[in-house]
Amino acid sequence: MSIIIQKFGGTSVADSQKILAAARKAVRAQMEGNQVVMVLSAMGKNTDILVELARQITDQPPAREMDMLLSTGEQVSVALMAMAIHWLGHEAISLTGAQIGIVTDSAHTKARIRSISTDRVRTALDDGKIVIAAGFQGVDEALNITTLGRGGSDTTAVALAAVLGADSCEIYTDVDGIYTTDPRIVPEARRTRRISYDEMLELASAGAGVMHNRAIEFAKKFSVPVHVRSSFSDTPGTMITAEPETSGRPVCGAAKVKNEARVTVLGVPDRPGAALAVFSKIAARNVAMDMIVQNVAAEGYADISFTVFRDDLPTTLKAVEEATRQLEAEGVAYDDDVSKISVVGLGMATQTGVAERMFHVLAEQQINILMITTSEIKISVLVTREDAQKALRTVHEAFKLESEPAEAATCGAGPAVVSEPRDAAEIVARMERMEELIIEDITLDASQARVTVVELPDTPGVAAQVFEEIAAAGIVVDMIVQSTGREGRANITFTVPQGNLAKSVEVVTLLAERLGCPPPSSSPRVAKLSVFGIGMRSHTGVARRMFQSLAAAGINVEMISTSEVRVNVVVDGRQGEKALAALEKEFGDVMM
Ligand code: ASP
Ligand code: MG
Repeated sequence: MSIIIQKFGGTSVADSQKILAAARKAVRAQMEGNQVVMVLSAMGKNTDILVELARQITDQPPAREMDMLLSTGEQVSVALMAMAIHWLGHEAISLTGAQIGIVTDSAHTKARIRSISTDRVRTALDDGKIVIAAGFQGVDEALNITTLGRGGSDTTAVALAAVLGADSCEIYTDVDGIYTTDPRIVPEARRTRRISYDEMLELASAGAGVMHNRAIEFAKKFSVPVHVRSSFSDTPGTMITAEPETSGRPVCGAAKVKNEARVTVLGVPDRPGAALAVFSKIAARNVAMDMIVQNVAAEGYADISFTVFRDDLPTTLKAVEEATRQLEAEGVAYDDDVSKISVVGLGMATQTGVAERMFHVLAEQQINILMITTSEIKISVLVTREDAQKALRTVHEAFKLESEPAEAATCGAGPAVVSEPRDAAEIVARMERMEELIIEDITLDASQARVTVVELPDTPGVAAQVFEEIAAAGIVVDMIVQSTGREGRANITFTVPQGNLAKSVEVVTLLAERLGCPPPSSSPRVAKLSVFGIGMRSHTGVARRMFQSLAAAGINVEMISTSEVRVNVVVDGRQGEKALAALEKEFGDVMM
């Protein structure tokens, strides 16, 4: 018999009527011949209320007691849901994380799942019961109650789907699927029928938060098809699977992170380990850095720019000031009035001109780009907060995201077949490593060259002009970074195939002359190293470990770009093999 997981978020169980409505969905799925496991969040804003209660007692509640407190929210929901199902005349049993046997590590308030036993759930299902599992919680080896971090019920749902070999994992929520962008900002936004795990991961980190990112990583790792849909209707929502909606389009969605801050460390001595000194000071304060751009040094100095959430700026500046003193760097500049706009799509990896198009339409709207990073399936630009909404609308329209792709009609929303091992013991054994960082691959691309042009005017249209002229010369650009350097002037670095270097330099030299900037610098051979994996961001140490191992091998990092599913670094071409060996050694223990 097929197993269906139905997860209901806080708004979907906010009151007794909603609980009954959810109960009916579960009963209906059971009557259609499925075994049903419900996973619930706390009712409405109950978790927030509990957090606030704790805060009224103390600023620093012990993490163990915080988990004891927060886990009660879900316990209320599951008990009420079981009552609702009984009332509807069906059998149900509510279970806490501990009763199911969801064993986690002991990192209270952000625990990671170690293993899940399936016996009790299976027995109850075989007895004809609907199983109602408390989301977001588990228990450590010493039987202390733990929680998985805010929003963690999604992770519980996907993890249960994985261990039970469920045929589908339905996430019921207050939106009816994943949209091409936030419909509150862009009313033309369209609900997508299907999106791939990687696209969803990138979009979520780019600001489109519908699901817990760890839940998507899990779904990807165990090939669980996830169906995000509305708890208030029966319309099909969006399937998150390995396959994208259509292969024909470069972009599947756009997103905005409103409150970012940009920090630039100026005049960092360009030597191995310098970037690491900055990053490790920040990581030590638990601040996640987002867009990271290191522009090649002029005369032995580099500028390192990155963004953080605006709320993290004061902490970040403290860390950066320490690093600046230690490195004897020139100084720090920052700007806390910026937003990040990103476009994401698997199709971008195989289509050219996407970045150029994005820069072009933004220039047409007189929107200034303050920073750029690109990865294979994502392009992010930083703009002033004032320009952010317009920028999001502009790119949404430019990539025609509002219109249904032609092929979409043929790919229905039915769940993909899960071809994973069905033997419970085997799956549970795999679960033991389930939340660990997994590096899928480390690659070296030694085919590229680098071009850097500095001190460009920081005005709308400059990036568009650079890449239009490069494209007009028939050159395909791979990585692009832009940051702001001295006196607010822009620095742009990009990579091209080695055979196109001379032509690229020629084009950019003429442009630099016209714009009154110094001639470009270049490197005929660079090596791009990419580390691909799952959990690249939720395991915050990945980028730092990369820098650490490269610095230890005496290798200087020239360019960086980070994304949810991969981190790219560019180093001198002569050091490519050595860098690859250093990274393979560093991540050997977590290679798939
Ligand atoms: N109730 C928890 C929270 O609000 C877990 C969840 O809803 O997923 O974060
Ligand atoms: Mg929630």
